[in-house]
Amino acid sequence: MFDHELANLVQFRSTGAPVLSVYFDVPADPGELKGVHARVHSLLKPIHDVVTSDALTHAARESLRADISRLEGLGERGSELLGRGVAAFACSSEGLYEEVVLAREFPERAVVDETPYLRPLLSTVAQARRYLVVVVERGRSWFFDLLGREVDEATHIIAPSTQRPGRPSQHDADPQHVENRAETLSRKHYHATGEAAATLLQKTGAERMIVGGHHETVSEFVAMAPKALRSRVVGTFVIDPNTMTPAKVRECAQPVIDDYERTERTQLVATAYERVNARGNAAIGIGWCLLATNESAVDTLLIHDDSEVPGRVCDNCGWLGLAGDECPVDGRPTRPTPDVIDETAEAVLVAGGRVEQVYDDSPLANDVVAALLRFPVVQPT
Ligand SMILES: [Zn+2]
Repeated sequence: MFDHELANLVQFRSTGAPVLSVYFDVPADPGELKGVHARVHSLLKPIHDVVTSDALTHAARESLRADISRLEGLGERGSELLGRGVAAFACSSEGLYEEVVLAREFPERAVVDETPYLRPLLSTVAQARRYLVVVVERGRSWFFDLLGREVDEATHIIAPSTQRPGRPSQHDADPQHVENRAETLSRKHYHATGEAAATLLQKTGAERMIVGGHHETVSEFVAMAPKALRSRVVGTFVIDPNTMTPAKVRECAQPVIDDYERTERTQLVATAYERVNARGNAAIGIGWCLLATNESAVDTLLIHDDSEVPGRVCDNCGWLGLAGDECPVDGRPTRPTPDVIDETAEAVLVAGGRVEQVYDDSPLANDVVAALLRFPVVQPT
């Protein structure tokens, strides 16, 4: 589910100097590049105050100072990062430096903590979904495999009529016949496209499909698709196959995916509240969700926006809580964290669960976090 680099970041614990994590976006328009350097600079400005605070040892201060100047340098590299979201993690005294570049926006921020701040990454990279994009014409279809920022033209098929041009038939003079024949051929082609799509869905592990093309052909194809295939279609878009490129296909498909995933998250939130009302497998609020996380009961963690909640972590056993200098499980000293939700998200992913950031208005705005559970966990009093 999540790759090697990310797994390393999740496991990284600094024993000395803190880790500096920075998220920022580079505009797609080269004309706006000038502002990037200034934005990175102002993002890092509050970190200078951390450097000069008495809370850090001399060595930790030096490490953080080196991290700041390294990350400031990112602002200069705007031209190679056009239209990308950048996440970078540095802790020079421990030899940590990782950069993750994505084709999407991040909420911009800079965080200093003992561990890399991974929440925005975890809910995108770690869980990037695979989609199959099918672009259809009456005589030709293209298939694209979409995973995170990657798009590959998987294959394309051509209808038999265009593969064997010519061969005039004795009926070709009859306009009615020509029309019927064209219709039969496009039906056959749609059918073959549907079969190829079903095979590709199975082969790539994509669960969902998006259909693009001219408005008419898209509706014809979707209307004709077998029910099982149609239920996989999450949306459609209009594109001219004659001028499309994989990048253009991605650009057109992304808003469809965003819409679909937004609706899906809203439904997950509604399910959590319904289940809690029915005393089912769900938890609402940070206290309850922490308890469920400690019991490895969380299947899906839902987080409102970029809300942060300070808390405590036991690095020995992984216990997470809101307060307490001593771990209630093993009695070891706990460490404070500026955002215990970040640690919770990591714990849920490591335990094989899912994490969703919910940016839309929902009841979560009040409760901050909710979770769908694998088994019931009693609400703490
Ligand atoms: Zn513990």
